[in-house]
Amino acid sequence: MKNQLIVAVSSMLLLASCSILNKTEKIEEVDLGEITVKSDNPLEYQPSETRINDLIHTKLDVKFDWPNAHLYGRANLTIKPYFLPTDSLWLDAKGFEIKEINLVAKNGAETSLSYAYTDNMRVRINLGKTYTRNDTYQIAMTYIAKPNELEEGGSAAITSDKGLYFINPNGEEANKPKQIWTQGETEASSCWFPTIDAPNEKMTQEIYMTVDTQYVTLSNGLLLFQTENGDGTRTDYWKQKLPHAPYLAMMAVGEFAVVKDSWRNIGVNYYVEPKFEEHAKEIFPHTPEMLEFYSKKLGVDYPWEKYDQIVVRDYVSGAMENTTGVIFGEFAQGDHRYLIDNSAEDVVSHELFHHWFGDLVTCESWSNLPLNESFATYGEYLWREYKDGKMWADYHIAQDLMSYLRESKRKQVDMIRYYFDNKEDMFDSHSYAKGGRILHMLRNNLGDEVFFEGLRVYLEDNKYQAVEIHQLRLAMEKVSGQDLNWFFNQWFLASGHPVLDISYAYDEDLGLQFVTVEQTQNLKSTPLYRLPVAIDIYHENTITRHEIEVTKERQIFEFKSATKPILVNFDADKYLLCEKIDHKKNLRSWVTLYERGTLFEDKKEAILALSTENDTLAARTIIQALDDRFWGIKEVAIYSLENAINLLPNLTKERLVALAQFDEKSSVRAAAIDVLATDFKGGNDFRFIFNNGLNDSSYVVVATSLYALYETNKEEGLAAAERMEQSDNIDIISIISEIYAGETDAKYQTFYEAAMTRTSGFDRYGVLAGYADFIKGQNALYMGKSLETFKKSALIENAWWMRMVATNAILEMNKSINSNLNKLDKKIDNTVDETALSNLKEDKNNHQKVANKLQEAITEIKAKETNTRILEAIEKAK
Ligand SMILES: [Zn+2]
Repeated sequence: MKNQLIVAVSSMLLLASCSILNKTEKIEEVDLGEITVKSDNPLEYQPSETRINDLIHTKLDVKFDWPNAHLYGRANLTIKPYFLPTDSLWLDAKGFEIKEINLVAKNGAETSLSYAYTDNMRVRINLGKTYTRNDTYQIAMTYIAKPNELEEGGSAAITSDKGLYFINPNGEEANKPKQIWTQGETEASSCWFPTIDAPNEKMTQEIYMTVDTQYVTLSNGLLLFQTENGDGTRTDYWKQKLPHAPYLAMMAVGEFAVVKDSWRNIGVNYYVEPKFEEHAKEIFPHTPEMLEFYSKKLGVDYPWEKYDQIVVRDYVSGAMENTTGVIFGEFAQGDHRYLIDNSAEDVVSHELFHHWFGDLVTCESWSNLPLNESFATYGEYLWREYKDGKMWADYHIAQDLMSYLRESKRKQVDMIRYYFDNKEDMFDSHSYAKGGRILHMLRNNLGDEVFFEGLRVYLEDNKYQAVEIHQLRLAMEKVSGQDLNWFFNQWFLASGHPVLDISYAYDEDLGLQFVTVEQTQNLKSTPLYRLPVAIDIYHENTITRHEIEVTKERQIFEFKSATKPILVNFDADKYLLCEKIDHKKNLRSWVTLYERGTLFEDKKEAILALSTENDTLAARTIIQALDDRFWGIKEVAIYSLENAINLLPNLTKERLVALAQFDEKSSVRAAAIDVLATDFKGGNDFRFIFNNGLNDSSYVVVATSLYALYETNKEEGLAAAERMEQSDNIDIISIISEIYAGETDAKYQTFYEAAMTRTSGFDRYGVLAGYADFIKGQNALYMGKSLETFKKSALIENAWWMRMVATNAILEMNKSINSNLNKLDKKIDNTVDETALSNLKEDKNNHQKVANKLQEAITEIKAKETNTRILEAIEKAK
């Protein structure tokens, strides 16, 4: 799974930071700590699921009741005892109405079995006799799955866990198609079919899906045939002959355009909403090339029968690696102009790489989740490295490091952790970002040849099986011939990271360069690390590399150097996962690092260090970096110009003005516009650039320009916003929402009302949050007008945190109106003038009407809501 809410959270960031540029940041960087579920219980040991029975095959026959959001199912499960004999079977079956459970004899005859289903979560079936591991038996369950009647859980990582989702089932929402889709990870497949819902289980499957004929279906494996039933329905038969874990099972139903592509001899299809049909290959860029690249790089060909990708509405995460049927949230879908700034390429590569790491070889328990997610995250790196070069890949992985380090401020846990509150907590920046970096270090330590051969052996030895972290170590040891306990112990089985303090001294008499490395992390909670690392020593015409190994709390390394080096570059490969303080590098050495360093991190480190120097050479170097060959460096430089703006204002301005207008990369143009608007006095001078930016090919540039105009010339900014209110683009709608949120003129309410109906899913977040801010500044009349909209959102949004925003808006309005009512009561008590009194009473009457409606809405929300956080908020507001 790709960590969720890429789009929604970018909107949150947008609102929080007034800068659309943060859109490129990832979800992991958003601190959702406040929503952590607290538990008074000590953490429990989380073992892998005990294997009593082994599920071999699942055959499902399903049809859907849209209005009630029910699934009518019949499941035939083929099972055998795992090792020891048993006379009973536990199945996960969440929130089902079970009609019957039968034993199916070889000849097809069925006999009813007794069962207990007391907690609505697991059913214990009495098999009527004891089976041994040499037996195989089959049971059939007829049931109704009722996902919407389950209590809702979920987490910061996955917003919901009801497994099966009916989107706009009664067609109430304009501009939103009717769809059905599933989300199995972590253990929610058992919300739509009975199974042993654990990642160490593997099964083959076939599904008969009966739907109205206008709908397209998608599931795992191949669509083998379709049968018209003559009653307006059709039954599609999907079969996957290779085994996978139950959480990877999927279904989707809706009106989709299916765009066909292929790789070698298998089908590669893209399912998008019909209006995006012509953009399908751009929505899922380079998929066949990725299949070829990963197959070759890993030495293990893509093993599955086909590869399909689909975009659905109101998805509860970013994307999910269901075997051969990857689901993406709607953030992935758009026209060419949208895709300029919002390519899902890294998500496409992430989910595809999971088809080896996660789908083919699966973590045996959620405690071992990094075996899925760290690899998928590193798959993003490998693809970028191949397709766009090491600079771009390093830029990408640098963001992972930042994301993990940010998370580490509030959370440091073992990568492989057997103690946690909630399995959803595993989907954090540790499992993704830190793990990707750890694999990058392992590759650097072992070298490419050993590392990739190690991955091949790991995949071959463990295919179609579940693994724990030791299997990865053993494969790497087998290939390398090295003991790797030290690496796995310190990185995968411990928490924290090295915090290094590096200082330098040169002794002219001895001709020695000293490098002192101290590990200053808290050694009570964090290991003392063993860190093989390279040090490059720069002279005028040479760079000499020294390989060292940091192993102690404090170590001094010495290197012969007849003359004082210009630069000593610690961790020359910039591969360590660490925090570091690099002392006593002087200005000249930073300039050298920028000019002669070849890595993204070399240049970035240099620019950031130079940005703190109030010096013309430093400023000139950063200005020079504005024209770097790599756009990522340009962006770092654009945001490091504070001193340069003071020291060399005209030169800086000239370069920025050029970048803002002519750089080929939209994110660079937008960054330049942002800095011109916020960091220069007299931003009004750049109005022509901002006005031109309103016509840019990139929506992000348009939105940034619009905000820049508003910041520097409110009148013109508002006028432009009003002209663009009809835009369909979410970046523009969100920026207008942000602009109007700070305005008091009630006329802007019509924009919000319209925008709420024109957006949906996570895209609506920016509008919803802006509207909630805006309405606070309005009077009872306008609050009353907004109520239906907020109420609808509070009742129907799929993501609980969006329902929370809507509910909070209603609670806030309620508070404000009640406070006004109190004030009016006091005024009425103190007023004698008849006309004034009558006006006040009418005012009170109007307020009371709105107050009553608000109260009704709160009661209605409370009755329908199952999310405890929202219910708590309602309770607290009383
Ligand atoms: Zn993933």
